[in-house]
Amino acid sequence: MDFDYDDQNIFAKILRGEIPNRTVYENDYALAFEDIAPQAPVHVLVIPKGAYVSLDHFALEASADEQVGFMQAIAEVCKIADLKDGFRGISNTRAHGLQEVPHYHMHILGGRPLGPILVD
Ligand code: AMP
Repeated sequence: MDFDYDDQNIFAKILRGEIPNRTVYENDYALAFEDIAPQAPVHVLVIPKGAYVSLDHFALEASADEQVGFMQAIAEVCKIADLKDGFRGISNTRAHGLQEVPHYHMHILGGRPLGPILVD
């Protein structure tokens, strides 16, 4: 499978500082920021700083340091947002997942009971 990365996507622009964001946490490998259209009281997007289009692309091709750094950012977001009652991590992927932005991102949603995982 080819993973073609479009460096004009909006999260690439955020990483380059061309578009502002409300940063929650940042490390060498990942940036976490508030979703512009929150679907829950906590709605944070965690993105790798590397050029990966999707979860499967990241899992296949990111280095161990990138993968650990990304997971560490998720853990820090959970602490910062005080998600001790739970949360949901969602990574929409390609057409069937209704992915809008072609830069890998993990939605971290919480702050209230979230309902069933899938609603048609
Ligand atoms: P997805 O459908 O998983 O690709 O979701 C993309 C997410 O990016 C949506 O929840 C949008 O609200 C969010 N989004 C789009 N543009 C921005 C932006 N400039 N800053 C923060 N979040 C954004």
